[in-house]
Amino acid sequence: MREKRKLSGSKLFVKKFGGTSVGSIERIEVVAEQIANSAHSGESQVLVLSAMAGETNRLFALAQQIDPRASARELDMLVSTGEQVSIALMAMALNRRGIKAKSLTGDQVQIHTNNQYGRASIESVDTSYLESLLADGIIPIVAGFQGVCPNGDITTLGRGGSDTTAVALAAALNADECQIFTDVPGVFTTDPNIDSNARRLDVIDFDVMLEMAKLGAKVLHPDSVEYAQRFNVPLRVLSSFEAGQGTLIQFSPECSHGEFESALVQGIAINKALARLTIEGMFTSCEGYQALLACLSKLQIDVEFIGPVKLNGVSENDCVSFMLAEAKVDILLQELKVLSESLAFGTLLVERQRAKLSLVGKGLQTKLGFLTKMLDVLGNETIHAKLLSTSESKLSTVIDEKDLLKAVRALHHAFELNKL
Ligand code: ADP
Ligand code: ASP
Ligand code: MG
Repeated sequence: MREKRKLSGSKLFVKKFGGTSVGSIERIEVVAEQIANSAHSGESQVLVLSAMAGETNRLFALAQQIDPRASARELDMLVSTGEQVSIALMAMALNRRGIKAKSLTGDQVQIHTNNQYGRASIESVDTSYLESLLADGIIPIVAGFQGVCPNGDITTLGRGGSDTTAVALAAALNADECQIFTDVPGVFTTDPNIDSNARRLDVIDFDVMLEMAKLGAKVLHPDSVEYAQRFNVPLRVLSSFEAGQGTLIQFSPECSHGEFESALVQGIAINKALARLTIEGMFTSCEGYQALLACLSKLQIDVEFIGPVKLNGVSENDCVSFMLAEAKVDILLQELKVLSESLAFGTLLVERQRAKLSLVGKGLQTKLGFLTKMLDVLGNETIHAKLLSTSESKLSTVIDEKDLLKAVRALHHAFELNKL
């Protein structure tokens, strides 16, 4: 297939358009026009679309009204429908322009995942149908975010998972580039909607991008970055609203012999709407701790554990403390109430409206000056760094959410990220 394309001289691009990019009929028409122009210029294209902006949230909210603990299987059946709407509308918009295009669900393509409903991982992609469509000059328009698990059920890949669909298709088809079209013109030093001084990066290394994505930079789903790195997929983030070269995600250039990579802060990632939960008396029994883990896994709550803490004079080994999404606190508290009937544990302390802010880059831990500088900058703004976590690639702190904008702007300025 790749050989045939090479002989015919046409390049293959997998192009993914996010929710805002296909958020209205007008937007769908604009994207269809761009795709039609590229088709006329001889490009081979596979499209991956998200649901129209707001649609996935609307679907989750419907389920919430019926049962906040609805089964993950049924949730996947429900929320995967959003993508089906946008792909069909896009196919119509292209067909009306005389361009041959066909909408396809994950099942129709044969995007195989494991059976972890709600956050499944792609295990394989069967490219035969896509290749036959491309060979016939038909543009496949694939529903992002969804796949099919071994028992034939629909699965979804976690919020923002259409990025991963696009990268997985690009890898399987050996595409020339996977292009993620979104509502900002590339990857910036920090969220440009938070700090207008944020600078677009022409290129960013996979390692740094992955850390940014894991720490909250929503512009790419972390799985998509990991997948692209693993399968060597050329990956680019671009705006669907304006022309430009966007940001290319690349492998770190090799350091030549005897040369050390210089330490550098390259971006700030943020994670909003977090809470911290501290449970006293958890470690008194191994059973209690295991029950907590089982409960978190059942509710599909991601947590970041924080070292043992001392609470109200109780031995620090008796407390467990972790960060989680604020939206998950109430459902977890309900579940813990049920647990407390059979397992003894003490006070629950909930701290809401927290945010995590992370400086991301290279060599950050070795060079102690970075941490001191970060704390000084926050201190000068009278922002209290409540927790710290460090590694070579990130310096993270938890702060009050109300201080987030001030903190990002002060740190962006102090670390001269606008001059990168
Ligand atoms: P899509 O719907 O196209 O998938 P997302 O909302 O998932 O778009 O991701 C794009 C958003 O990511 C931007 O609007 C921006 O607010 C946010 N963002 C966070 N960090 C960054 C960053 N470092 N660079 C660019 N955008 C970022
Ligand atoms: N529609 C899904 C979501 O809103 C997937 C995606 O947009 O990538 O999370
Ligand atoms: Mg996204």
